[in-house]
Amino acid sequence: MSHALLSASAADKWLHCAPSARMEALLPDTAGESAQEGSLAHELAELKARRHFHGMDKGAFTRKFNKIKSHELYAVDIDNYTDAYVEYLKDVEMMFTSKPYAVFETKVDYSHIAPEGFGTADCIMIGGGHLHIVDFKYGKTVKVDCTENPQMKLYALGALKKYGLLYSIEDVTLHIVQPRMSNISSWDITCEDLNAWGQSIKPVGQMAYDGTGECVVGHWCDSHFCKCRATCRAYMERMQAVAAFLDKLPPTLTDEEVGQCLTLATDIKKWYSILENYAMTALLAGKNIAGWKVVEGRSNRAFNDIDQAYKTLATSGIDESLLYNRVPITLTDCEKMLGKKGFTQMLADYVVKPPGKPTIAPQSDPREHYNPAMADFAGLETNN
Ligand code: SF4
Repeated sequence: MSHALLSASAADKWLHCAPSARMEALLPDTAGESAQEGSLAHELAELKARRHFHGMDKGAFTRKFNKIKSHELYAVDIDNYTDAYVEYLKDVEMMFTSKPYAVFETKVDYSHIAPEGFGTADCIMIGGGHLHIVDFKYGKTVKVDCTENPQMKLYALGALKKYGLLYSIEDVTLHIVQPRMSNISSWDITCEDLNAWGQSIKPVGQMAYDGTGECVVGHWCDSHFCKCRATCRAYMERMQAVAAFLDKLPPTLTDEEVGQCLTLATDIKKWYSILENYAMTALLAGKNIAGWKVVEGRSNRAFNDIDQAYKTLATSGIDESLLYNRVPITLTDCEKMLGKKGFTQMLADYVVKPPGKPTIAPQSDPREHYNPAMADFAGLETNN
């Protein structure tokens, strides 16, 4: 399905930085393997949800499931995580006093709020004056919270437009299920407040549609992986502010300043890698990036026909035991093969997690402070 210019999933970005939608639309789609994996997981989630809510004979379900399983990106975990999502849908269903009206992967139109805006809601349930919208997120890097979430509010406004005449709806509950991050959240809003919010964002929606307004840099640039970061002037100017700060430093840095520099350098490091990726793609496409070219990276020698090479060694009298190492597959590969659940059931007793090497992190990092004494003690325990 094509995407709206003002997509709900990018609403956090275009609501903060109105020109970003038009700027991004000029750049090629960079959705990679993880997006394909997400689509596959959504396909299975929908299939399982439909089977539970609408019924489906076993043969039809198995045929469709097997088709999904034959996809090269299919892994056992997709099965487990979609099970977790459907279990949550069953919990939401139990909140109704009678069987709710339920639809899945449904197009909702919120163009009355944001021009030409539409999106696909994973699950909508309606009954008893209440609308529930559940969004299945398959990402595992950015935790998404439901509270005041603009994507979810736009879906809800679209659902109200679609079903508001058929059903009397007073309250809305929005849910996000992100099983790969063990993250489930929900949030309530009245229809009155939701509609008021919709009206309040209409001017920004129009600006975003027109591509007007100022670029505004913030967490949305990175958390929504804005495609413009390599060439966005506002994003670059923030780096200039960083450089200006570094310029003013006296010959010797205080520890306070070292901390500030580390914080600023983290942004520069991220920006540098974004620029590098952009320049590489541009150069490979035959464009000119002043002062830069693409060269061959380091490479290692390899046999062009390993079977024939080893046959030659074996026929020359070298014992086969000297030619091969028997190496067990990694813990991660084991988990991939068995799925999280199967792995835990079969192997949890054999898994240890030794303390990691000390590494620096910003104060906002949720991990506990490194404790050398505890780490030494943990090391002793592991050795015993
Ligand atoms: S990088 Fe940030 S400031 Fe620049 S267009 Fe994207 S969202 Fe806006």
